[in-house]
This record gives sequence, structure tokens and C-alpha cells, in this order.
Amino acid sequence: MLTTTQTIAWLNNFADKIETNKAYLNDLDTPIGDGDHGSNMVRGLTAVKATLADKSNADLTTVFKATALALISKVGGAAGPLYGTAFLEMAKASKDGVTDLGILLATALAGLKKRGGAATGDKTLVDVWRPVLTAVHADRLTSTVIKTAVERTKPMVAKKGRASYLGDRSIGHLDPGAVSSGYLFTALLETVV
Ligand code: ADP
Ligand code: MG
Ligand code: MG
Repeated sequence: MLTTTQTIAWLNNFADKIETNKAYLNDLDTPIGDGDHGSNMVRGLTAVKATLADKSNADLTTVFKATALALISKVGGAAGPLYGTAFLEMAKASKDGVTDLGILLATALAGLKKRGGAATGDKTLVDVWRPVLTAVHADRLTSTVIKTAVERTKPMVAKKGRASYLGDRSIGHLDPGAVSSGYLFTALLETVV
């Protein structure tokens, strides 16, 4: 059962990792994108931290919803609506009484795929969410699972987003969104799982 306290700790940890790795995420987004993924995510996570500062007594739905709105309004780019949708779906599911992490993440991933139209292997954040979700369901999420999923985006050809304009030239680069999702789940591992 996921609690408000755990979720706030998770998201604050995620925000810290994004801040620490802002330049790295921008660098990853430079050869296969427009070099702004770190800046986009920092803007969003700064807003998430601010909105969660007074939510320690709120319910899980309120926490997820505030997070989603901060991400949607501040991240921008392709990643904003995608991460935003993921958290909005978790808000909806928690409103229906779901507190199981595996079910919440499954709902989030379904929303993310629907919103962005990306399938497994398209070199997007979905390529991290999918194996992480499988591991969470099996109660086997480890940093190796996360790291492996992130690394596997390197040889992929991008089929969605800006990187897809490069076709085969997107090969050999990590997907920036996969790396930021790696931080999301490393933060989860450090605070919840
Ligand atoms: P933008 O490309 O608009 O500058 P960002 O740089 O913030 O946005 O985010 C880029 C990341 O978004 C990519 O690395 C990829 O993981 C993710 N992404 C882009 N398009 C899609 C999509 N259609 N479905 C899933 N993820 C996507
Ligand atoms: Mg970008
Ligand atoms: Mg951009």
C-alpha cells in the first residue's frame, strides 16, 4: 500500500536527482533532440516540490493530482504531457481506492502509451516503464533492472518524438526520457520499494 508520506518522499528524491543531473539530461538530448530535457524536467520538478510542500496531510489522490498539474504546466515539450498523464492516471486510480503500487504504475503506463502512442522498442521512456512495471509486479525491482532498461535504449532506433527525425542516426545514444524515468524509479527504490 502506497502512502502519502512515501509518495512525497519518492517525488522529492526524484526532484533532487533531476536537479543533480540537469546538465547530463540536456547533453543526452543534444545529439538526438533539442538539448532541453534536463531544463524541462527541472522546471517541472521544482514546481512539484513546491506544491508538495504543504501536502503531508493530503490524501494520495491530491498528491498525484498536484504532481500531474505541476508537470503538465511546467515541463513543456513532449515529456511534460507524458509524465503529467502518468500521474493523472495514478490520481484517478487512487480516487477509485487503488493504493497498490503495481496497479497504479500499470494504469500510468497505459495512459502514457495511449497519450504518446509509443510501443516497446521505440526508444522512449516506455522502454524503462515497461520492464520496471514487470519487476514491480514480481516484487523484484532492483537498480540493475532499471540500469539495464535504460542502457537498452542505446542501440534502439527512435520511432517517436524528435529523435525519430534522425532515423538510424539515433542509434548509439541513450534516450533522455528513458534516463529521467530511470531516476524516477531509482528514487522509488530508495524510498518505497
Ligand atoms: P521535446 O522533445 O519536446 O524537447 P523533451 O526533450 O523534454 O521534449 O523530452 C524528450 C523525451 O520524451 C524523449 O527522450 C522520449 O523519451 C520522450 N518522448 C517523446 N515523444 C514520445 C512519445 N510519443 N511517447 C513516449 N515518449 C516520448
Ligand atoms: Mg528536448
Ligand atoms: Mg523541446
